[in-house]
Amino acid sequence: MASTEIQKRDSNAITRRIKASKVPTMKELSDFDFGSIPSLNKAKVLELAKCGYIPSKTNVVLMGPPGVGKTHIAISLTLNACRQGYNARFFTAAEIVNTYREAREAKMIMRLEATLSRMHLIVIDELGYLPIDRTGAESLFGFFSRCYEQTSVIVTTNLPFAQWPSTFAGEERMTGALLDRLTHRLEALTISDKEESYRVKQSRKNNQKKS
Ligand code: ADP
Ligand code: MG
Repeated sequence: MASTEIQKRDSNAITRRIKASKVPTMKELSDFDFGSIPSLNKAKVLELAKCGYIPSKTNVVLMGPPGVGKTHIAISLTLNACRQGYNARFFTAAEIVNTYREAREAKMIMRLEATLSRMHLIVIDELGYLPIDRTGAESLFGFFSRCYEQTSVIVTTNLPFAQWPSTFAGEERMTGALLDRLTHRLEALTISDKEESYRVKQSRKNNQKKS
């Protein structure tokens, strides 16, 4: 096959994988201003962008206050994974809980789990923003145990680990078991709570320019 044809076939496959990942928007690391978020470990993010964590089923947790680029980074990492030939799927925490609930109601849990098991990377964005009820928490416990040593999971959250039981319907023991698995192989990126939202910072800069 001519090399241009191979390139075209590859680029079609990448486009297909990106579409299937259901990222909410396109965000690239090349557009990320690391200088404005100094507490974020830039070297670690750039290393993750090479996708080496995926074959070793390493998980990633991005922890920090709102507006500091957690979702932006999670989307960029998803896109990079798609470009490198991995199947990825992006969910918000609310979306994955709903997806499980709908699958259960339609008696299609097996099918959902078969679909998820074909993924190399699954993102759970915004864990901790909305409380999850007991059934939702059970779905997530099931989800994290299935992913254990099988699938890399990226979680973004505003909550330190000590507060995770509060988001999982107060289930201390099950949350402990979940954290054991999640952190067994983990790259943790913590952004300081003192860091200000990027957009707030930008708009203040723009206002200062005007006045
Ligand atoms: P979080 O998920 O931490 O709440 P987001 O990733 O949603 O934050 O970021 C909010 C908006 O600000 C997005 O449009 C994102 O692209 C942008 N943004 C955040 N941090 C940066 C940054 N350091 N450089 C460029 N854009 C950023
Ligand atoms: Mg976010």
